[in-house]
Amino acid sequence: MAKKVCILGGGASGLYCAMHMKLMHPAMEVTVLERGARVGKKLLATGNGKCNFTNLNQSKTCYSGESTDMAFALVQAHPPKDIIHIFAEIGVESIEKNGLVYPRSQQAASVLDALRFKLEALGVHIRTDFEVKATKKQGDVFVLSGTAQEKCDAVVIASGTAASGGSAIGVKLLRSFGHTAATVYPALTPVMCDTSYTKLAKGMRAQCSVQLCKNGAPIASESGEVLFTEYGISGICIMQLSRHISKAKAENEKASFHFEIDFAPETNEADLLTFYTNRRQTLGYLQTSEFLGGYLNKKIGQAALKSCGITDFNAPASNLTDAQLTTLVKATKCFKLEISGVLDASHAQACGGGIRLGEFTEHLESTKTKNLFACGEVLDVLGDCGGYNLTWAWASAYAVARGVNK
Ligand SMILES: Cc1cc2nc3c(=O)[nH]c(=O)nc-3n(C[C@H](O)[C@H](O)[C@H](O)COP(=O)(O)OP(=O)(O)OC[C@H]3O[C@@H](n4cnc5c(N)ncnc54)[C@H](O)[C@@H]3O)c2cc1C
Repeated sequence: MAKKVCILGGGASGLYCAMHMKLMHPAMEVTVLERGARVGKKLLATGNGKCNFTNLNQSKTCYSGESTDMAFALVQAHPPKDIIHIFAEIGVESIEKNGLVYPRSQQAASVLDALRFKLEALGVHIRTDFEVKATKKQGDVFVLSGTAQEKCDAVVIASGTAASGGSAIGVKLLRSFGHTAATVYPALTPVMCDTSYTKLAKGMRAQCSVQLCKNGAPIASESGEVLFTEYGISGICIMQLSRHISKAKAENEKASFHFEIDFAPETNEADLLTFYTNRRQTLGYLQTSEFLGGYLNKKIGQAALKSCGITDFNAPASNLTDAQLTTLVKATKCFKLEISGVLDASHAQACGGGIRLGEFTEHLESTKTKNLFACGEVLDVLGDCGGYNLTWAWASAYAVARGVNK
């Protein structure tokens, strides 16, 4: 029976775990060790400061990793409706849009505050500015050392990973207890591309379908808003696709990637050619630079024109040849962008890979070392954009709290 538990990491999963542990086992001494000056700093940045803390639409396909069955079973054991209920109990009312759930206040800070105030009320100890550097087991006692030292009967590793703003310590410590890890890589990041055309449309957004191709063949696709930037492109659908690129890089795979962007997914090439041909006839008086304005975002339209080698922007649109219109249809339906890489880990919203989930029980206790637990991103589970990573953080933390005295 664990009397004292230390949780390594005061992020989303560590704080939620501490709360449930104390609620379920009031006599237990629970201490959170956090290297930062404050707990939960990353939570404040989630959902653009609004914290998309869960998603009502759940399926196994929203999670990736080597053990998605187990990951999804844990999410089902602590589903979004329970998460929403628990946050309401600690003062956070929620609003929902297309399944994505946010605090009604639209402030990530209210989620963090609610957790902090509840932990204080429950008597959870929080030690900030405490960086754990090593964990050893001496008999039945764990000794955590670094900035200071703590001894306890059970340890929860909730330190995230270095690939997304946490630290590498969790993977390192769990490895020292015999665990293995799937290659860790930053995921959900913006993508760097050939900027010849993206720079022209910097700051512009468009609703598109995007196909990611690896070595020339399509491997994944997403739809949604794409944002053109100085370095390439971003947006939720691009972040979703980025994992394939960073995983290949992390595994030293020699592969080339490109995007094919469809700016007019609602129509086919033949209909679009007819549309452009009619447009040339009716709007032939426009300068070529304005030909696509009103149909596509003006700057994106101009980037498409340039990609077809159409550079005489002052000429009347009536001068566009049939061959040029055919090429323009291709550039609208299949705008090709060579990919040079992804932005570094500091821009990643989550990571893929991590310590293998299959090496833990259903309560996320290590099968190698008794009373050693893990939750959150340190484990090999990656959620889609849209509240799934926090759902995993809460659900895995809850599993640990339930299991600590089983
Ligand atoms: C910009 C951004 C926006 C995001 N938005 C969303 C969103 O809207 N919805 C969503 O579902 N997910 C979102 N995510 C992902 C989500 O924040 C993470 O999945 C989640 O925070 C992971 O929780 P965690 O507890 O495992 O790790 P973390 O939140 O990374 O917490 C780990 C904690 O451990 C501490 N720590 C690390 N090493 C040590 C050490 N050696 N000693 C002591 N303490 C240590 C860290 O300082 C940190 O506080 C976003 C992420 C980012 C970066």
